[in-house]
Amino acid sequence: MTSHRPVPSPWPTQPAWAEVDLDAISQNVRSLKKAAGGAQLMAVVKANAYGHGAVAVAAAALQAGAGYLGVASVDEGAQLREGDISAPILLLGPTSVADAERVVAHQLTATVNSRQLALALARFASEGSGRCLVHLKVDTGLHRSGLPPAELIPLAESLRQLPSLTVEGLFTHFATADEADKEFTYRQYRVLLEVSSRLPWIPLRHASNTAAVIDLPEMALEMVRCGIGVYGCYPSREVSRRVPLRPALTLKSRLVRVSRLAPGEGVGYGLTWRAARPSRVGLLPCGYADGYPRLLSNCGRVLIGGHPAPVVGRVSMDSLVVDLTDLPGAEEGGEAVLIGRQGVEEIPADEVADAAGTISYEILTGIAPRLPRLYMRGGQVVAVQTLRDPFPVEVRVSAPH
Ligand SMILES: *Cc1c(COP(=O)(O)O)cnc(C)c1O
Repeated sequence: MTSHRPVPSPWPTQPAWAEVDLDAISQNVRSLKKAAGGAQLMAVVKANAYGHGAVAVAAAALQAGAGYLGVASVDEGAQLREGDISAPILLLGPTSVADAERVVAHQLTATVNSRQLALALARFASEGSGRCLVHLKVDTGLHRSGLPPAELIPLAESLRQLPSLTVEGLFTHFATADEADKEFTYRQYRVLLEVSSRLPWIPLRHASNTAAVIDLPEMALEMVRCGIGVYGCYPSREVSRRVPLRPALTLKSRLVRVSRLAPGEGVGYGLTWRAARPSRVGLLPCGYADGYPRLLSNCGRVLIGGHPAPVVGRVSMDSLVVDLTDLPGAEEGGEAVLIGRQGVEEIPADEVADAAGTISYEILTGIAPRLPRLYMRGGQVVAVQTLRDPFPVEVRVSAPH
């Protein structure tokens, strides 16, 4: 992708890793784009592409038809530019005036909510590349960032006159689109349309997240912003399954030690699990510092040889232990799936999230940078990203013999 240096495969020595199926990313982008009718699709790749790796996912999403990228910070935008991504990138959140020079230097599109930021961007743009694109965010009820209509409309009109600044977009963000009751979402949408009717010269309007693309495709406007759906998860249980999505990420580890316990012997900090019978337990070198929640102590499960094995004892920082007593075929070196599919069995990110009292978003974004990402196409590893080389490196697939 960005580099062609040969890399030694980190496997089979890696204790834990994440495999990211770029075919799934492409397919999800195409499915969501189709669901949004003729609208453009922004792939939201903030938070390291929800833990999947920003540069590789962005490249795959663009190739599949995404036209815009969304990030949370200037650093995230700069990382994409350093990874040779030239597509437009919107900073979804607020930007500090102190960052205006970097925004212009990296040709990022800022969300502007003050005249001061707009003037700073316009000044750097006139000194450099000449033009800077901005979007304006209407607060329609989420009450996070964005301006209320009464402040936004005069700001928009005053920015229209700045020669080196182009107000390209107008958007809002929904608070409850993933809930069954869409009443508040309709209300937010109507406010955005009212503001837009006062500012008809702003060409690119967008409001929908993944939940709205699936359940309210009539709100797609000129562009939709999809995060979780690109990664193959549904935003919530209440969102319909009408759009087919396939999870892209599989979290894997390997049994590095298998040992026997006599009845009464315990496992892990606090000895919170004790063998009730002669037992075999296996150590997986993946812990809460890798993103596997400690709340899954004594209640998670992993897949080994296509069968579930329960997590026993506390999940620790770098490892967890599973009970293999009912899996006589499980041996040292055997692969375990902590999130994702193995054979016909699957542990969805939602299952891990439910057990940890959270949502798939938090589980995925919590997958630690120290875990290598393996990028797959057609079931083959095509690129690798590691902690020591934060840009994906292409892997030459050797010819089968
Ligand atoms: C994160 C984010 C999205 C993506 O939401 P999903 O539910 O993941 O599709 C869209 N818009 C904004 C402003 C966001 O911050």
